[in-house]
Amino acid sequence: MSSFVTVSISPDLFQAGMHTIDHVALDEALREMRTSSQENPERITMKHTQRTTVQVDEVIALTCDVCKRRYEDPNEIQGFIHLKKTGSYGSIFGDGTLIECDLCQHCFKDRLGEFLVLKQQ
Ligand SMILES: [Zn+2]
Repeated sequence: MSSFVTVSISPDLFQAGMHTIDHVALDEALREMRTSSQENPERITMKHTQRTTVQVDEVIALTCDVCKRRYEDPNEIQGFIHLKKTGSYGSIFGDGTLIECDLCQHCFKDRLGEFLVLKQQ
């Protein structure tokens, strides 16, 4: 028997009196939970929370691996292309070699633009 009972009722349906709750089943579940918690208190599961402040590293600038230009404009940062791949068996870069490259959108377009398939979404 689960220690949790979840009852979800749409507020609109509840106000319209169109809710249906199996009161017998609900009462039975609550009775069993009470009995169970009295017999075996450690079965009760509760989350004890504390609000804390979490520090995160925020990207404030990116440098393009091709043109070496540093970008701080959020729109330019968002437009960066990040390539990351691990060389597979038979890779010309070596099996298991990590391959990474960060390209600004301008270099990406300059270098690969003619091969890109662009579609508006
Ligand atoms: Zn660039």
